[in-house]
Amino acid sequence: MVESCSAINCTKRRKKGVKLKFHRIPKDPNFRQAWLQALGRMNFHPTERKVVCENHFTEDDYEINSHGNRVLKKGAVPSIFNISYQTMLTEIRTVEPGIEITVPIIKHEITLAEKKERMLKNLYRIVHSINTDEEFEALEGVATSMELTLNAIQEGYAS
Ligand SMILES: [Zn+2]
Repeated sequence: MVESCSAINCTKRRKKGVKLKFHRIPKDPNFRQAWLQALGRMNFHPTERKVVCENHFTEDDYEINSHGNRVLKKGAVPSIFNISYQTMLTEIRTVEPGIEITVPIIKHEITLAEKKERMLKNLYRIVHSINTDEEFEALEGVATSMELTLNAIQEGYAS
């Protein structure tokens, strides 16, 4: 069976002659859970061991072992994904005494409603940060030119 990367929006497959490393999702339940969380696939229970390609790891996730090979460090968790929106929050977890791993808390998708809500919250913050007439005037010009857009967004948000 051809092994393909389990990361979202990644189509890399293990191929002969292509020097791309693939790492198996760990068996150890703690590490495994961290990987599945990072992959945004908490309800993913593959029977065979799935792989993740090296594109989802940082340089820091690798070390040179005693045989001179570049290997994934124990506790490395995939953190780079090809998605348009990704929160940068991380969570530190102790999985074994002395071994802490950093697990990205990644939201793989954001809905249009969430985007609108976020934008309205930002606008609210901007409007409430105005304390002087000068600040108001400076922003008024921008606001006027944005008015049609904002109206459209608010109508969309209200519905
Ligand atoms: Zn991949």
